[in-house]
Amino acid sequence: IRILAFESSCDETSTAVIKNGREIESLIVATQIKSHQRFGGVVPEVASRHHIEVITQITKEALAEAHTSWKDIDAIAVTYGPGLVGALLIGVSAAKAASMATGLPLIGVDHIMGHIMAAQLKDEIEYPALALQVSGGHTEIVLIKDPIHFEIIGDTRDDAAGEAYDKIGRVLGVNYPAGKTIDEWAHKGQDTFHFPRAMMEDDDYDFSFSGLKSAFINTCHHADQIHEKLDKYDLAASFQASVVDVLSHKTIRAIKEYKPKTFILGGGVAANRGLRERLSKEIEQLPADIKPKVILPDLKLCGDNAAMIGAAAYNLYQAGIFSDEHLNADPSLELPYAERMLQ
Ligand code: ATP
Ligand code: MG
Ligand code: FE
Repeated sequence: IRILAFESSCDETSTAVIKNGREIESLIVATQIKSHQRFGGVVPEVASRHHIEVITQITKEALAEAHTSWKDIDAIAVTYGPGLVGALLIGVSAAKAASMATGLPLIGVDHIMGHIMAAQLKDEIEYPALALQVSGGHTEIVLIKDPIHFEIIGDTRDDAAGEAYDKIGRVLGVNYPAGKTIDEWAHKGQDTFHFPRAMMEDDDYDFSFSGLKSAFINTCHHADQIHEKLDKYDLAASFQASVVDVLSHKTIRAIKEYKPKTFILGGGVAANRGLRERLSKEIEQLPADIKPKVILPDLKLCGDNAAMIGAAAYNLYQAGIFSDEHLNADPSLELPYAERMLQ
């Protein structure tokens, strides 16, 4: 089964051809980051305009790079939410047009299901699986019963982890998106500031990052007022230590309770070196009978891309879940619970 997939939920326009949900035959990612950087974040209208400029061209490129043509494709997949409505609509319209013109089945995919299924492009997922999904808009612990059944067991009460990186990055004068640079700086510093670790000992799987963000900003402002120069590497290291501590602490507790066969790290923040190292090490130390297999997606598949959408779409294809010409962008889509998907 060969799926042509589209992704345009935020500031990356991407197309891919994926074979059997596991193999990347082609992947094109056109990023718009440069156009948004001077505004310090993604400008929705600018994003839509860029998507529309490149989507036809990169569709042709994805087919060409995979040495395929429309007749070799079995289904067309597209992210229909969550994300920016105008941005999503470009991908959804392109996919619907392609589906109507070719008669190929259409599969609408949840962007977060896609992030989690990036793992499937690396290794075989054994079920039940558990995922820590950390990205620009989401921070969730997700229980995955089978390839299409997802349940959120923990969520952030305020900011997402990636959002917190981007906000403190702005204070340090780092260009959007700041996560990668802060991660690099963190490895050159020490946790000297001991920022708070919110909700770490609470008896649930929820997170909160707004207090950490405020503590960070207050520390910087106070130093400014008294003309004290703080070490940016120590600031980054202290911030990252707090984020990684909370995320890994709750994830390990969830693994002990739910005993999944596979652990998956997903989303843009899954590229974080500190988080990858810490989770791998802590899982390695678990007793053999509850130690899950760990899948950390390739770095280039952590951020937004159409390959992960093609992987997730394959699972829906196998389950016989298709969309029709009424598929519409849903900016506030929440992770599919089978009950809703199968309606
Ligand atoms: P969502 O997927 O929740 O809808 P999104 O698509 O905007 O949101 P992604 O593209 O998945 O988010 O991830 C982007 C986020 O990942 C940004 O906030 C960015 O700063 C962060 N990020 C990227 N690399 C790293 C890293 N090495 N360490 C920490 N954060 C990182
Ligand atoms: Mg992005
Ligand atoms: Fe994303």
